[in-house]
Amino acid sequence: MLSSFLSPPLPSLLPCPRRRFLSSTTAAAGKIVAIDAAQAFDYESRASSLRDRQSKLKIAIVGFGNFGQFLARTMSSQGHTLLAHSRSDHSSTASSLGVSFFADPHDLCESHPDVVVLATSILSAEPVLRSLPLHRLRRSTLFADVLSVKEFPKNLLLNNLPPDFDIVCTHPMFGPESAKHGWAGLPFVFDKVRVGASDDRISRCQKFLDIFEREGCRMVEMTCAEHDEHAAEIQFLTHTVGRLLAKLDLRSTPINTKGYETLLKLVENTCSDSFDLYNGLFMYNKNSTELLERLDGAFDSLKKELFGQLHDILRKQLFESPRKSPGN
Ligand code: NAP
Repeated sequence: MLSSFLSPPLPSLLPCPRRRFLSSTTAAAGKIVAIDAAQAFDYESRASSLRDRQSKLKIAIVGFGNFGQFLARTMSSQGHTLLAHSRSDHSSTASSLGVSFFADPHDLCESHPDVVVLATSILSAEPVLRSLPLHRLRRSTLFADVLSVKEFPKNLLLNNLPPDFDIVCTHPMFGPESAKHGWAGLPFVFDKVRVGASDDRISRCQKFLDIFEREGCRMVEMTCAEHDEHAAEIQFLTHTVGRLLAKLDLRSTPINTKGYETLLKLVENTCSDSFDLYNGLFMYNKNSTELLERLDGAFDSLKKELFGQLHDILRKQLFESPRKSPGN
């Protein structure tokens, strides 16, 4: 009886178990002993550690490069269990981050993560997804991607994952360079493409999104198509201008203005990402081609404006200035 009193099922815990008294043998001996002090079983801490465990996820990151490692650092610091798999051997970086690295995707999938995060390059996403032994995962697994384009992975995941898997497409709109001082206030775009109606599936997806919310990200829910429309301007344009400026080989000077410093920073921010990433923004966002044409057109029109004015001045000088006679 004493043992059943000491170990009630956790959900039936009273809100405040402390002000209870040992009865039975102790009371029979004429002593009533309050158990406020240190106890062999501390219900409050057990309940809170259960709550804590329940809010933690086992997350597998597929594609453990620059961005995969950046995500793992924060996820791991929040107490989630991190696993990773990648084409290259990143085992020593993984162990320094407290992440279990699996060279073989079969072993990764057999570890039955709650969430698989696809963090590989846009260009390699399809072959990487197809190479995963999905049948080794639990029948209900949440797949999340973090690719910088969204319609492409949405269709890829819908077409290749078993119907029992949940899908959330996300884009943390920051990276190791722009978020080196934290994620607070930075936009995180997500689209719950397919999440089952049961409480556990809804809560699993929410726990994953909570990772970003907890860090203070600005959570923006929008469709993948809407994302790509906006992203062509704000992302592809930014990267294109940064890479264009990089071709000019700009250097810092003793008289840098604030504006010029901004340009140098833009080059640094955009060129620290891989060219594959930039290329993916172009190849896998149908709005990027139009943006590139608009940029080309805008540059031509600006040049026409400048040269047009120069032409007008030259014409005036040639034809309108008073002719000097040969004797003068
Ligand atoms: P990335 O160049 O876009 O991707 C590098 C990752 O892709 C590495 O894990 C690399 O694996 C893997 N990979 C490349 N080619 C592969 C191939 N042929 N087969 C198998 N794996 C291949 O650089 P990233 O910055 O790490 O970005 C990863 C993803 O996050 C991209 O989809 C990107 O759009 C997205 N993202 C990046 C940022 C950012 O700021 N960097 C921000 C938001 C979203 P190994 O390292 O093992 O070779």
